[in-house]
Amino acid sequence: MVNIIAIANQKGGVGKTTTAVNLAACLAAMKRRVLLVDLDPQGNATMGCGVDKHALEHSSCDLLLSDIPIADCLQRITEPSPGFDLLPANADLTAAEVGLIDSPDREHRLARVLERAAQAYELVIVDCPPSLNMLTVNALVAARGVLIPIQCEYYALEGLSALLDTIEQIRANRNETLHVEGILRTMHDPRNNLANQVSTQLITHFKDKVYRTIIPRNVRLAEAPSHGMPAQLYDPSSKGAIAYMALASEVLRRQQKGRNAA
Ligand code: ADP
Ligand code: MG
Repeated sequence: MVNIIAIANQKGGVGKTTTAVNLAACLAAMKRRVLLVDLDPQGNATMGCGVDKHALEHSSCDLLLSDIPIADCLQRITEPSPGFDLLPANADLTAAEVGLIDSPDREHRLARVLERAAQAYELVIVDCPPSLNMLTVNALVAARGVLIPIQCEYYALEGLSALLDTIEQIRANRNETLHVEGILRTMHDPRNNLANQVSTQLITHFKDKVYRTIIPRNVRLAEAPSHGMPAQLYDPSSKGAIAYMALASEVLRRQQKGRNAA
C-alpha cells in the first residue's frame, strides 16, 4: 500500500521544504518510486528541484480545481538517478485555495487525485504551506502519516498543539488512517544548550515518535536550493546530505515495521 506522508508545521522556516525535497531525492537514490507534491504557493520545493515555477504549463492548482489528468502536470526530475516525479506549484495555488471554498468536496480533492495516481509510487511526499489552511487540510485528508519538522528553539513547541488538534480532528472525521509518522529535529546545533533542552523535551513528550536522525544546521542544505538541487546532488558528502540519507532509511524502516505490525 502506498504511503503518503504530509510534511507539515504551520510555522514557516522550520525545514519543511528542505525535508520534502531532500527526503524525496534520497528515497529516489535508494531506488524507491517517489512522487513529491508541492502544495505551497511559494513553490519552493519546485524551485529546489530545479524547475522554474514561473514557466509551468500545469501545476497542482490545476489538479485541485479541474479534472485534468495528473500525467499532464508531472515533471520528471532525473537526478539523483533513477529520479522522481514532481507535481509542481506556484502562486496559482493561492487561487486554488480560494476556488476550493465553493467546492462540495473541497477537503478531499487531493485525496481523490492521489487515490488514482498513487499506485504508481511507493512513497508520496507532500510539502505543505506554512499554515493550517485548506491546502494543508487537503494534504492531511490524503495522507497516512504526518512528518512534523521542528526547529529546536525557544518557540518550537508553540503551535504544535494546534497542529496535533487538527490532525486529531481530521483523523476523527475525515481520515481514520492519519497518524503522526514522526517528529524531526531540524537545523540542530549541538553546541546550543537550548536546542539540547528542547530536544530532550520533545523526547520526553513524544518518545519514539521522535526520529533518531537529527538534521544538523548545515550551510550546504541552505545553498543547494539556489542551485536547483537537493543536497544529495549538490554535495553528497555534506553533513546535511548524509543526515537526510539516514532519515530516508529511518522512514523506510518505520514503514516496514508498520507493515509487519499490521
Ligand atoms: P519551511 O519550508 O518550513 O518554510 P525551509 O525548508 O524553506 O522551511 O527552510 C527555511 C530556510 O532555512 C531555508 O532558507 C533553508 O534553506 C534553510 N534551512 C533549512 N534546513 C536547514 C539546515 N538543516 N541547515 C541550514 N539551513 C537550513
Ligand atoms: Mg516551505
